Amino acid sequence: MRRHTSFRAGGEAEYFFIPKTEEELITLIRRFSERGERFHILGNGTNLLVSDKGLRDPVLSLRGGLSELRFLGEDPDCPGSFLLFAEAGCLLSRLSDLAESLSLSGMEALRGIPGTVGGAVVMNAGAYGTEIRDILSRASLLDAAGEPVTLSAAELELSYRHSIVAERGYTVLSALFRLSKGDPEKIRARSEEFRRKRSEKQPLNLPSAGSTFQRPEGDFAGRLIEEAGLRGFRIGGAQVSEKHCGFIVNTGNATAAEIHALILEVIRRVKESSGVLLKPEVKMWGSF
Ligand SMILES: Cc1cc2nc3c(=O)[nH]c(=O)nc-3n(C[C@H](O)[C@H](O)[C@H](O)COP(=O)(O)OP(=O)(O)OC[C@H]3O[C@@H](n4cnc5c(N)ncnc54)[C@H](O)[C@@H]3O)c2cc1C
Repeated sequence: MRRHTSFRAGGEAEYFFIPKTEEELITLIRRFSERGERFHILGNGTNLLVSDKGLRDPVLSLRGGLSELRFLGEDPDCPGSFLLFAEAGCLLSRLSDLAESLSLSGMEALRGIPGTVGGAVVMNAGAYGTEIRDILSRASLLDAAGEPVTLSAAELELSYRHSIVAERGYTVLSALFRLSKGDPEKIRARSEEFRRKRSEKQPLNLPSAGSTFQRPEGDFAGRLIEEAGLRGFRIGGAQVSEKHCGFIVNTGNATAAEIHALILEVIRRVKESSGVLLKPEVKMWGSF
């Protein structure tokens, strides 16, 4: 799984499927559901830590197929707004590129989030004051039995890095985004500004899963980690980034066990120094 996750760590998946069409994905999910078998849905693996011991439950990777992207024109229900359709495996960056090329505004701040559309909906991904819920109209999903469901953004109950998708065992198939026309120069300038902020602040030269921890109420994980004296702290090849303490980075050959141990140690020390209990934002698969 090191080849499929941005942490570049993790053992082997025993079964790895890349469904090329929605029908193939539905067939697989229905088969697993009938047999009562669990499975993992993989997007671009940019918010994921997989155990070195690997995975016995099958992995369904949506990144290879299911990546159609289309401009649907003006929203008949909301004149002045325009709709973009994207399948779950489409990278968010392709969606941003298309929006920018059509002078559609609303997702400039999300530029640079390296996940897929599906992963972004599940996580209600967000940056610099914009979240997926601000631009999502509705999503098509499969329930745990492989039956189709369509849910509006409100029905998905999107909140800070959370939706009901995971707890209900749903799979996102595609999403419909609503954006408004904007001034092309302003859109380009805003996109560029957010891109610059990211490369100035984030350790983009090293493998990571972005912010390792959720933002605690009224504070920032990075600030608390720095205050606990953990800037640059390492366990094996895993390190609290020197550039941004909210990121744990793989400095070369970190194992998933080292990254996991560092996450636990950071949580322990921050609790000790500030009383705040950090929660990982990164999802963990397999046994640690
Ligand atoms: C350098 C860097 C910067 C980042 N910056 C940000 C940021 O600014 N803001 C932010 O919010 N995040 C950020 N992230 C984290 C990550 O990119 C987002 O959480 C992203 O939304 C994850 O998408 P993914 O496709 O990679 O999901 P994955 O990591 O593949 O999966 C994450 C979770 O979503 C589930 N999932 C994925 N696709 C589906 C689907 N179609 N149906 C059902 N479940 C699914 C998986 O099962 C898993 O539980 C950053 C990551 C990196 C490496």
